[in-house]
Amino acid sequence: MNYDLLVMKFGGTNMQDSRAIRHSASLAARSIRVGVKVVVVVSAMAGVTNQLLKLADAAQSGDIAAANDEIALMRTRHFTAAQELGAAPDSVTVREIREMHETLRQAVYGVYLLRELTPRSRDLIVAFGERLSAPLMSLALEQDGLRAHHLSGGEAGILTDSHFGNAKPMPNTYERVRDRLSGLLAAGVTPVVAGFMGETEKGAITTLGRGGTDFSATIVGKALGADEVWAWKDVDGVMSADPRVVKDAQNIEVLSYGEVMELAYFGAKVLHPLAVTPLQESGIPLRVKSAADPDFPGTLVQAQPRDEAGHPVKAVTAIRNVSIINVSGAGVLGIPEVIASVFDAIARENVTLLMVSQSSSMSNVSLAVQTVDAERTLVALRAGVSLELKVEEQPGVAVLAIVGSGMRGQKGVSARMFTALAEQDVNVLMISQGSSELNVSVAVEAAHVDAATLAVHRAFGLGAPATA
Ligand code: ADP
Ligand code: ASP
Ligand code: MG
Repeated sequence: MNYDLLVMKFGGTNMQDSRAIRHSASLAARSIRVGVKVVVVVSAMAGVTNQLLKLADAAQSGDIAAANDEIALMRTRHFTAAQELGAAPDSVTVREIREMHETLRQAVYGVYLLRELTPRSRDLIVAFGERLSAPLMSLALEQDGLRAHHLSGGEAGILTDSHFGNAKPMPNTYERVRDRLSGLLAAGVTPVVAGFMGETEKGAITTLGRGGTDFSATIVGKALGADEVWAWKDVDGVMSADPRVVKDAQNIEVLSYGEVMELAYFGAKVLHPLAVTPLQESGIPLRVKSAADPDFPGTLVQAQPRDEAGHPVKAVTAIRNVSIINVSGAGVLGIPEVIASVFDAIARENVTLLMVSQSSSMSNVSLAVQTVDAERTLVALRAGVSLELKVEEQPGVAVLAIVGSGMRGQKGVSARMFTALAEQDVNVLMISQGSSELNVSVAVEAAHVDAATLAVHRAFGLGAPATA
């Protein structure tokens, strides 16, 4: 196909050192050389985001020495990459990286002095990962003989609400991105955008949630009306299960936007759960591609699902570290106002509910939430519902989901899943089927999640075809 404009996203592994960055730049260059305009969107070097979160916490708890040690390690890593990519010690790139580390150090020192880490200051700190990797990608493209210019998310026009840690793009983002990037593209310059981050109206730096560089790339894709968005990864594409858990997981050739959203929501870390949302209106396809095998087609994500007869389920995913919150109280819970008070309390806390179920006796409501959200869910419920209700947490749970549009209206799919689980002696704690009928999810004990994933993957015939 002849492309005019592509957005290419490179993840943490594709940016992890000078060698990976050079390879990523060459993948963009392949298209640019044949006349395709490319916007590059980059993640932080692998591990850097976690490091930044850790050092921010260390500073808040008073351990400035640990925070500074961590900054020094990061600094060496970025300088080494710049040097290996050919930057002279007094070059603009090296100076820029030095200045950014200095600003980072000051911000972290501020957290240490105040012993306070607000969501806003955490975002400022954590976004340095992407801001630092963008100049390295520019450098690699220039070394490849191309013209490049790097921008922070805000500079690229990504304007967000002020929901720090999980910000969403504002409607006028798209026009701004178009304004900021079109000129560069027209002049033959490849824009390199720092992913994962945006900026509020007032100029405060925000982040789009973990894995948010995928989201940045699709925002840019929509803004520019790209032909396609390509997310280069360290896997072949979106696979039938996490390849770290299921060794014979297979690449999925085609998925719909809806299927990918369910997969990401239920724990497949391969894409940000909201990544496809900017593409839905315009129908721009997203491709997940392997950087190690660039000619392999990977996974095509588009509006329409492609179902194969006999394969109603396309993938199995799991979310670990889940807690079930049980709300019980015989005779009270059946009353609609009481149920409403439960959900009101949850909504006020902005907790993501993974699963909800109500017992038929109406004396119990169970809610599955991420364990990190459990404490505030408990507090909110205890404060917001009738004192007659008992609210308890059951930690150590995982949620397993099967996803595929072919399940719609099909009988026996859930039964196959439950049989596979029963054969493994896996106890099912909660069951729910999304109204979209794109998934069925169950809560199981965390200790059984890998065995359960393998068994369900096998039961739906998702692994490698048996060789005769
Ligand atoms: P990137 O930085 O490129 O976005 P991520 O680490 O965020 O990379 O996502 C890719 C990882 O997602 C893979 O290495 C893989 O272990 C994991 N993963 C989990 N579920 C799946 C799945 N169903 N298909 C592919 N990868 C998956
Ligand atoms: N670096 C960020 C993260 O680790 C964003 C991303 O990689 O997409 O979550
Ligand atoms: Mg990711």
